[in-house]
Amino acid sequence: MGIEIDNGNHLVFSANENFLDFCKDIDSKRTLKVFPPCFGFFDLKEKKKWDLSLENSLFKILFSQKKALIPGSKIFDYFSFLKFLITNNNKSVYELVGKSGIYNTFWEPLTIGVMNTSPKEASAKVLSNVLKKTFFKGKKFCNILQPSLNWEQTLIKPSSEFIKKKGNQIQFNSLLKEIEIKNDMVTNLIFNHKKINIGDNEKVILCIPPTNLNKLLPEIVLPKDYNTILNIHFKIKKNILSKFKQPIFGLINSISDWVFIKHNHISVTVSNANSMNSIDSDKIAKNVWEEICLYLGEKIEFLKFQVVREKKATYHQSTKNLKLIKNLKKIPNNILLAGDWTQYNLPCTIEASILSGKKAIEYLNN
Ligand SMILES: Cc1cc2nc3c(=O)[nH]c(=O)nc-3n(C[C@H](O)[C@H](O)[C@H](O)COP(=O)(O)OP(=O)(O)OC[C@H]3O[C@@H](n4cnc5c(N)ncnc54)[C@H](O)[C@@H]3O)c2cc1C
Repeated sequence: MGIEIDNGNHLVFSANENFLDFCKDIDSKRTLKVFPPCFGFFDLKEKKKWDLSLENSLFKILFSQKKALIPGSKIFDYFSFLKFLITNNNKSVYELVGKSGIYNTFWEPLTIGVMNTSPKEASAKVLSNVLKKTFFKGKKFCNILQPSLNWEQTLIKPSSEFIKKKGNQIQFNSLLKEIEIKNDMVTNLIFNHKKINIGDNEKVILCIPPTNLNKLLPEIVLPKDYNTILNIHFKIKKNILSKFKQPIFGLINSISDWVFIKHNHISVTVSNANSMNSIDSDKIAKNVWEEICLYLGEKIEFLKFQVVREKKATYHQSTKNLKLIKNLKKIPNNILLAGDWTQYNLPCTIEASILSGKKAIEYLNN
């Protein structure tokens, strides 16, 4: 397309303290753009637009701002929030709030956006943990963070520079092919072009997604199902950007989940998108663009598009898979597993991956 794009849109809430600490450490906080906690929505079927503002506490929204409610909803519907205060590990989001009057307009898009998993299977406990850190705590924790330019400038480049400045190296194109184990201890790591011997007192941190990890440690029972996140990036004429009054909005009864208006392009996210893995990219772009035109209420054109399918964006964050990860067995004694998926109390996010990194450092220091 001739412009730099991220593979996905990666929205981060200001509640994500490990992410913010990390940005501070690598000196990239200034590259973050902070949006107030207000989500615009458009229901394509009902042709209705509304804003869901978290500027006020949930309590205030319910009892003093009836206008702020989601169209068609009643105050009673919002009591579904309370169910997340006491949920257990066995319930899906649908089992908890599937009957709520704001299921289609709120719980479903929220769950898919946060967990990349259908609410029919997504763990209510994980969503509850997110709500307790964000919506339940107030607006300070619900601001939306996005990179001013892109994630390369906010995370990748500054963290690579940080690593180098500390005298360490990143070795690209080093694929771990085999792990040698003796008496439940890793003894050798065999890469595509070298072998590293692991001494008796040394430890290994493996930050590899479950799918590849299982090729190296086949004994461990890990989740096998993954969900796609699909992004369609549209290059457009710059004057079109000013037509959009909100930088991020959600679509309901649509293919598109979230639309992000970037400084030089428009990017649309479709989560939980396995059903679109084999659909032609031209067809997806055409249909999604029609949805954007419907939102604007006028026919506009795009110049070019690029569809990016991340077929293994996250594992299927169901109650069943969560239990698997919580009770992992047969891990060699001198290995710590890291990566977003290991933090089973949180969704697979940047926050979870950074938290797992922090825990890995604690493991090394003990
Ligand atoms: C399209 C998309 C949208 C997303 N949206 C959001 C969002 O809005 N907000 C949010 O917070 N998060 C979002 N995420 C999730 C976020 O990107 C991940 O949680 C995070 O990047 C995970 O980081 P990680 O380091 O744990 O794992 P990864 O980034 O998966 O890193 C694992 C690394 O291991 C390497 N590897 C695998 N096998 C081997 C091997 N055998 N030898 C050597 N190396 C190996 C891989 O090449 C990879 O570099 C999104 C993800 C995608 C794909």
